[in-house]
Amino acid sequence: MARREFAGKTRKAALLRSGKRCEAVGAWYGLPTGERCANDLARGVEYDHIILDANSKDNRLENCAAVCIPCHRHKTAKHDTPTAAKTVAQSLMGMKTRIKVKIPSAPKPEKPAPKGHACPRRSLYIVRTSP
Ligand SMILES: [Zn+2]
Repeated sequence: MARREFAGKTRKAALLRSGKRCEAVGAWYGLPTGERCANDLARGVEYDHIILDANSKDNRLENCAAVCIPCHRHKTAKHDTPTAAKTVAQSLMGMKTRIKVKIPSAPKPEKPAPKGHACPRRSLYIVRTSP
């Protein structure tokens, strides 16, 4: 069962659109209806065909969801239904982020930002407020 994969630029665009947060929405991925997973994709990302490739042969960005691994696993374990796929596609369309499909050919390597450990602002000199 060979499935066609998304092109590299499609994956990148999907990841960009996701804001590095899982794009999985609703029951299809084992979530409450209409709710987005929004897991941090830094821990791993899968590119999911919103509408199954077998049915649609659609490898466009509109059919590509950047999802976290647990969501992808859930979806591949259960079987997709076209109606659920439509819901996911619609919620992605409704996202405010405009998608720029044009991706620079040489993206600078991203280093993961340390989460929640920003250094406090420090002044160069210690100002003593002695009496
Ligand atoms: Zn997820």
